[in-house]
Amino acid sequence: MILHAAQALLPEGWAKDVRLRVEKGRIAEVTTGVPGQGHDVILPAPVNLHSHTFQRAMGGLTEARTAGQDSFWTWRALMYRFLDRLSPEDVQAIATQAMVEMAEAGFGAVCEFHYLHHPVGGGTYADPAEMSGRVAAAAQETGLGLTHLPVIYEQGGVDGRVLAGGQLRFGSSPDVYNQLLDGAGRALSGMPDAVLGVAPHSLRAVSRGTLDRVGGMTGGPVHIHIAEQVAEVTEVLAAWRARPVEWAVANLPLDARWCMIHATQMTPAEVAALARTGAVAGLCPITEANLGDGVFDAPGWLAAGGAFGVGTDSNVRISLAEELRLLEYSQRLALKARAVMADTRSTGRLLWEEAATGGARAAGRGTGRIEVGQWADLLALETGDLRLEGLRGDQLLDAFTFAGRDGLVADLWSAGRHIVQGGRHIAREGVAARFRATMHRLRAAL
Ligand code: ZN
Repeated sequence: MILHAAQALLPEGWAKDVRLRVEKGRIAEVTTGVPGQGHDVILPAPVNLHSHTFQRAMGGLTEARTAGQDSFWTWRALMYRFLDRLSPEDVQAIATQAMVEMAEAGFGAVCEFHYLHHPVGGGTYADPAEMSGRVAAAAQETGLGLTHLPVIYEQGGVDGRVLAGGQLRFGSSPDVYNQLLDGAGRALSGMPDAVLGVAPHSLRAVSRGTLDRVGGMTGGPVHIHIAEQVAEVTEVLAAWRARPVEWAVANLPLDARWCMIHATQMTPAEVAALARTGAVAGLCPITEANLGDGVFDAPGWLAAGGAFGVGTDSNVRISLAEELRLLEYSQRLALKARAVMADTRSTGRLLWEEAATGGARAAGRGTGRIEVGQWADLLALETGDLRLEGLRGDQLLDAFTFAGRDGLVADLWSAGRHIVQGGRHIAREGVAARFRATMHRLRAAL
């Protein structure tokens, strides 16, 4: 396959008249200065580095006030009630819809932090990796690149208390988890660009013994929810006499394979120490705002040379532009300043490039830069839109991020699969019909 762009964002910067040859899903040749017909602008498509796709079905269901002060923890109680009703078929229908929306938003792949493993009340399905198979099927149907991260969930808190209620669907003994991981590997076997990693859920849900072993379970990425909520910091501090990030830096073999999801609650010393490990900060600005988590220390992180990417997490809204925008806007509101995350590059350009390379690192996926050997995760913008009219270079990315609307991604390729064409995912209609039927049934049952 040959693609041509009047301009493209290459590792060395903006280039004109770029011709890309794609073979077996990978970029095989990049030539600049070759006139031709094709797209106006081609960019590396970032990875969505953190998602729980089933939560896409909860959007709009948790925004009313419950007794007393609504919080992350009341949201979690509703989430547990909701997932008491989800069958494997439901999970597949919801995941497929979420992946269609991710591709249309401009994500070339997704890291699915997958913890809904088991039937209601615990136990296992006949195939312990049934639910992983459903997620893999959704990725196969939509063509979206997948880094699958089966979650290890062992206990209800740092004190080792047993799992209860909704958590029974997440928990696995080490034996069951090993079967699940093997099964997940088999589910991905027909997908050449898929990656298998592991996800110890959080410091509160995984034992210390397991945390010592997670790095060796696969050669792939390791993701963990690290410091989302203040109550979580208090709990870890009381049990282990260190804050979560402080403890992780001192006790885990953190490196570029690790992705620390919601590195929100950090002191300046933790920011600097964590950035130095090479671990990626997995930021989910829309969900973090929705759940009232707090604001990530972006200037401190960038000053320490930290890598980051963005994820849609709860999928309450799936928008690449809005994740990037809110990341910067939360900084502006907190610091009463503008262009907080810009360097010699504009804000939109920095956000795009860092999210693309950081997300790729977190996903263990050779992508994020338009260069030979990388998977062809690419997107073309709808530059005929009045929101982007006449713009070039960095300003185009600034307009996409800060002034854009949904639907500006005209085309998207994931490992060379051309899955968004004319602004629409190629399987959109059929996927939406199944999602609609699933949602009608679920809402009636709630
Ligand atoms: Zn999460």
